[in-house]
Amino acid sequence: MPIVDEPLPRPRRWGAPELARLTAMVDQDSLFYWHGPQTAALATEFRRHYPFAHLFATSSGSAALHVAVAALRLRPGDEVIVPPITDMGSVIGILYQQGVPVFADVDPHTYNLDPAAVRRAITSRTRAIMPVHLAGNPADTTALAALAREHGVALIEDCAQAWGALHQGRPVGLAADLACYSFNDYKHLSCGDGGIVATCRADLGPTLTPWGDKHYDRTVPGLRDPADLAPNYRMSEPQAAVAAAQLTRLTAIVARRHHAGQLLTSLLADLPGVIPPRVTPGNTHSYWFYFLRLDLARLGCPRAAWVEALRAEGATATAGYIPTPVYRYRVFQNHNFFGGAWPVRDAGLTKMDYREVNCPNAESILTDGVVLPLNEAMSDTYIAKVAHAIRTVTTRLQK
Ligand SMILES: *Cc1c(COP(=O)(O)O)cnc(C)c1O
Repeated sequence: MPIVDEPLPRPRRWGAPELARLTAMVDQDSLFYWHGPQTAALATEFRRHYPFAHLFATSSGSAALHVAVAALRLRPGDEVIVPPITDMGSVIGILYQQGVPVFADVDPHTYNLDPAAVRRAITSRTRAIMPVHLAGNPADTTALAALAREHGVALIEDCAQAWGALHQGRPVGLAADLACYSFNDYKHLSCGDGGIVATCRADLGPTLTPWGDKHYDRTVPGLRDPADLAPNYRMSEPQAAVAAAQLTRLTAIVARRHHAGQLLTSLLADLPGVIPPRVTPGNTHSYWFYFLRLDLARLGCPRAAWVEALRAEGATATAGYIPTPVYRYRVFQNHNFFGGAWPVRDAGLTKMDYREVNCPNAESILTDGVVLPLNEAMSDTYIAKVAHAIRTVTTRLQK
């Protein structure tokens, strides 16, 4: 019998609150977002957790990030500093706005942007710093916001993986000039696909909606004379209905995940060979997943063997998160951003060569990191079994 003798617990994600909103929605005569009651409800529910003055609901988290970058009105060749362990969604909008993602290395224990590395990456072309709260672990936005202020650049927080996470007691995103969230199906909260971009800045706030809606001015009915080029990234009413209902579950989901993650870390303490993720004191990690590292020298076996042994004990685990840092993806190595070319570089507006980028901490984390699923349906008993399996396997392989 394997140590983890029960299947991976899976939460039931949708039910009465979603059904109630969708049922009400069926009586509407329009599913368009402008003056839509579901879109309004989504804003209300979102603000219960994230009291931003301005927000726009988007078709995805990537769209939210694109709107955030567009709202800063990057000039071609302007730079945005990003971490190399993230989703493509963090960088897609930067590239489409003809900006240049500049990868700075991450901290070896939180896996988040290292403020010292960010400082070294700042140039006269830097326009923004974009921390990603990886796996739900808050990045050091105190240091990064101070750095952004010092250099007169914007802070964009990518909160896609960090619903419910708190930085020094405050929901992630609130320290930023622009904050972005995702409702894609794998995130803590899902409406199939969706996102939110939000700001407290009075100058940027009114521009979010135009940047996500073709730069039409919907306050003047029928006006069609956009002054800027912007995509259609609108969220429609059915998605907003589900997203609004999902937000009513946020506190319970995150309380359970936070507890489970902390429990697992406490049960793995002082286990040579296994390095749990580090949470800065005062922060609340919301555990989109649990990301630990192996001390391979100490372990004396490859990561794949450890993961294989853990799986044989009934646990679910994956060797690594993304296969390589984002700058090693083919699209970056070949600078294949627009039909096999990169216009801003061809025009001499950047000298960036992604084949020369190397972030050693990010490389190491992705070489020895292991991802364990974590969700709100996991009981303490289940977590204890996973921890027991990890201890058993680690001790056995070390001999
Ligand atoms: C999920 C995610 C996004 C956005 O993804 P979408 O699928 O477009 O909603 C952006 N950044 C990070 C770090 C993510 O994990």
